[in-house]
Amino acid sequence: MDRNELFNRLMQLENNVSRIHEDMQELKSLTVALVEENVALQIENDNLKTLMNQELETTPVQRISQTQEEKKTPQKKQLQSREYFATLYREGFHICHDVFGKHRNGQDCIFCMDILNNKL
Ligand SMILES: [Zn+2]
Repeated sequence: MDRNELFNRLMQLENNVSRIHEDMQELKSLTVALVEENVALQIENDNLKTLMNQELETTPVQRISQTQEEKKTPQKKQLQSREYFATLYREGFHICHDVFGKHRNGQDCIFCMDILNNKL
């Protein structure tokens, strides 16, 4: 193998590696986009379920006993949403207002932490 051939093969290999790197970056951002979409759908699904349950809870038959139930639910609901947001944050997503549901890419977010520590 002469020096020219060796050099050409090295160039070729370098091109291949950079193409693989580009593919990798593309796949990574595609994955992030898909996971974000998944989280958005999950939230929407949960909201719809909550709405549906609320509809069921307010049917005329159950309306009479609701006053007793209402005293228990607020704290329970607050606890559930706190756990939900904490889980979402632990799984790597923003729970802060501006970029809710976006992937944090491993970065901590002071706005999210503020929500976790104070507001819920
Ligand atoms: Zn955030």
